[in-house]
Amino acid sequence: MFLSDTHLQVRDMARQFADEVIRPVAEALDREERFPAEIYEQMAGLGLFGIGVPEAMGGPGFDTVTYAVVMEELSRGYASVADQCGLVELISTLLVQHGTEAQRGRWLADILAAKTLVAYCITEPEAGTDVSGIRTNAVRDGNGWVLNGGKIWIHNAPVADVGFVLARTDPEAGHRGMSIFIVDLHAAGVTRGPKEHKMGQRASQVGALNFDDVRLPADALLGVEGRGFHMMMSVLDKGRVGIASLAVGIAQAGLEAAVDYARQRKQFKKPIAEFQGVQWLLADIAKDVEAARLLVLNAAHKIDSGADATRYCSMAKCFAGDMAVQRSADAVQVFGGSGYIRGFEVERLYRDAKITQIYEGTNQIQRMIIARELLAKGAQA
Ligand SMILES: Cc1cc2nc3c(=O)[nH]c(=O)nc-3n(C[C@H](O)[C@H](O)[C@H](O)COP(=O)(O)OP(=O)(O)OC[C@H]3O[C@@H](n4cnc5c(N)ncnc54)[C@H](O)[C@@H]3O)c2cc1C
Repeated sequence: MFLSDTHLQVRDMARQFADEVIRPVAEALDREERFPAEIYEQMAGLGLFGIGVPEAMGGPGFDTVTYAVVMEELSRGYASVADQCGLVELISTLLVQHGTEAQRGRWLADILAAKTLVAYCITEPEAGTDVSGIRTNAVRDGNGWVLNGGKIWIHNAPVADVGFVLARTDPEAGHRGMSIFIVDLHAAGVTRGPKEHKMGQRASQVGALNFDDVRLPADALLGVEGRGFHMMMSVLDKGRVGIASLAVGIAQAGLEAAVDYARQRKQFKKPIAEFQGVQWLLADIAKDVEAARLLVLNAAHKIDSGADATRYCSMAKCFAGDMAVQRSADAVQVFGGSGYIRGFEVERLYRDAKITQIYEGTNQIQRMIIARELLAKGAQA
């Protein structure tokens, strides 16, 4: 799989932005747990939000491979920043695929400009992996709806302007009884929980949203009533490519830091890079980063070519997440005690990597999906 000139141009632009703007401030953003609005404004100016939104709808209209290379580069700068790009991609894909012209006209341009901040709201206290457990519900009221319930661990909840909320609209219909609502988070009846303090990706603002008799207009419903679960899941193949790329970016940053450190750190009167034990650590990080990158590009290419991509997206997400945790730990190992101390990049990378095994479907769930696909459709590639 080879990248086109366009892929390389966009990648180089994202890489330069990550090197000059993101990576120098990553340590401070992590320490302060600060939402970097100024970085998102610049990214919007560069067209780095809504990468797959067609030109006719105001986006750059790039393919999923472009999205993957951008996510890796942003994450190499700082995973929290890439995470914001991934979130906007999920929401804008939902709007492109399922929104009406009026809904796109109302929301899309401001979302891509980072003027309207979004949240993708599924998880509840009793409904994590098992989404069928959601209790948030919307009941018809005249022309519109009334929303009650609550969500937890929602990325951007403390700062978001609009939430795409999965709610039950038919209590008897299981997965077919859920719908998505576009909810103005400044409306009466919406309250927010405190910001969570997380292990990693600490500039990403995560928290709870509560809905108490929130009145929604009829056009708050996205797509077809009762198809919400299916619609939320339909964007997850692409979402998993995004998280897999993000994991690759974290491990790539660890590799770069480890190689630099191994060259300059001296013990026994020579650089530690001359010891085979350290060289093997570096080689293992490099080969697994490359393997994960190729899995990601393959999965992205499958989506772009219209192939059945699900198993490949789950393989990429699962492998890249596990790899990022293991290989960022190896990067810490190359640094010795320094790697365990706050302020050294690899210490942050190790913390940032862990969530890639958990969100967007845990890696156990990715393995379940891979096995289900194999058993239903056969093992042939
Ligand atoms: C930082 C952060 C950001 C997040 N952002 C969002 C967001 O923006 N929007 C949103 O909706 N959610 C978000 N989440 C929630 C996230 O998607 C869930 O945490 C995740 O889906 C897992 O759900 P859970 O935490 O309830 O774990 P549980 O579902 O309780 O799982 C606990 C453990 O059991 C395992 N398990 C569960 N079922 C099975 C099974 N059938 N077979 C094998 N193992 C199983 C899981 O893999 C896991 O290891 C976020 C979470 C975090 C921590």
